[in-house]
Amino acid sequence: MSLPDVIVVGAGIVGAACARELAASGLRVTVVEAGVVGGGATAAGMGHLAVMDDSDAQFALTAYSQSLWRELAAELPKEAEYLPCGSLWIAAEDEEMAEVYRKERYYCGRGIPVEVLDAKQLAEAEPNLRPDMAGGLIMHADAVCYPPCAAKHLVERSGAELMQGREVVSVDDSGVRLDDNTRLAAGAVLLATGTAVTELLPALAVAPRKGHLLITDRYPGFVRHQIIELGYLKSAHSTPSDSVAFNVQPRRTGQVLIGSSRQYGVTDGAVESEMLSRMLRRAIGYMPGLAALSSIRAWTGFRAATPDKLPLIGRAPGFRNVLLATGHEGLGISTSLATARLIGDELLNRPSAISRQPYDPARAWC
Ligand SMILES: Cc1cc2nc3c(=O)[nH]c(=O)nc-3n(C[C@H](O)[C@H](O)[C@H](O)COP(=O)(O)OP(=O)(O)OC[C@H]3O[C@@H](n4cnc5c(N)ncnc54)[C@H](O)[C@@H]3O)c2cc1C
Repeated sequence: MSLPDVIVVGAGIVGAACARELAASGLRVTVVEAGVVGGGATAAGMGHLAVMDDSDAQFALTAYSQSLWRELAAELPKEAEYLPCGSLWIAAEDEEMAEVYRKERYYCGRGIPVEVLDAKQLAEAEPNLRPDMAGGLIMHADAVCYPPCAAKHLVERSGAELMQGREVVSVDDSGVRLDDNTRLAAGAVLLATGTAVTELLPALAVAPRKGHLLITDRYPGFVRHQIIELGYLKSAHSTPSDSVAFNVQPRRTGQVLIGSSRQYGVTDGAVESEMLSRMLRRAIGYMPGLAALSSIRAWTGFRAATPDKLPLIGRAPGFRNVLLATGHEGLGISTSLATARLIGDELLNRPSAISRQPYDPARAWC
């Protein structure tokens, strides 16, 4: 058997997207996945394909990736549940409208289609919201998908060789060693192992950040957009302590996906009733009718968080042929396709559509 050009370790949405991109660029790719394709954080994620503006680098990556998702949408199978429903950032009070207008200026200045809604327009757009909201901002180009099926599609489409149920236990510049002591050689290794990256490279500053989600039975039309409170920005990007924020998503199935929570320093994946209740109380506070819906299932997952909230994409410090694609925190589904394109650019020495420098893993090496 000829050696692969690249071994991709991990077949979450990021590894899957990278496998497809690298194979489509003409490289021979082997994917090694310890569990099942899309079974890690990818199975736990909400699947919101969002453009965000926490920093210019975050904006560049999310906007680039969203354009790639739009291109991919036509080939996705129906199980991937791609739904271009748009996002709605909601301002509960007049004070939060200042943020709505700031976002409008930011996005309009960069060619992203957005629209400010006043209180009446917001109530028309989402009749199940509490009636006393101040207004909101629609992001027309945002979408949602069902991430594990999108990951499965990307791996299948890549044509890469898939070694499922095999764990990589060590990595170096010439390949990897598997859990049964087999050695796999390759021209390069890409670690797309999410939070588990520190098991192979303990010097990386990547920490798990736990999140809860809950899904309801089918209530078509109950929610029309991915709706997020503006307070989410505080929860997602600043507070080091446990936090919850109102974040709901319509699924193609008619189900309503309710999030979300964020916790550091917890490694137990059990659903915590106190955290779940807190999250649901927050959601019901914004959308009282949620209280009457039947829930089907609640679960948790771990986001791979970096200190500066940007992913690690590029060569691993101290290695010639080991690359990283991890640390995507709560945006790994959104940014997977752009991540894959940047990894392909790095490996094949191609120019990139956006600067790769802000995502250089060297900054997270301790
Ligand atoms: C509650 C929650 C909500 C979220 N909502 C969103 C959202 O709406 N939008 C968004 O963009 N993102 C969201 N995210 C984040 C998103 O889910 C992640 O950023 C993304 O799934 C990360 O994908 P990944 O491929 O890097 O990691 P993973 O999906 O965790 O995949 C890593 C894979 O590597 C495998 N692996 C690990 N170690 C090894 C090894 N040594 N050998 C072989 N295989 C290995 C694992 O088995 C796993 O399958 C959310 C996350 C959570 C937890």
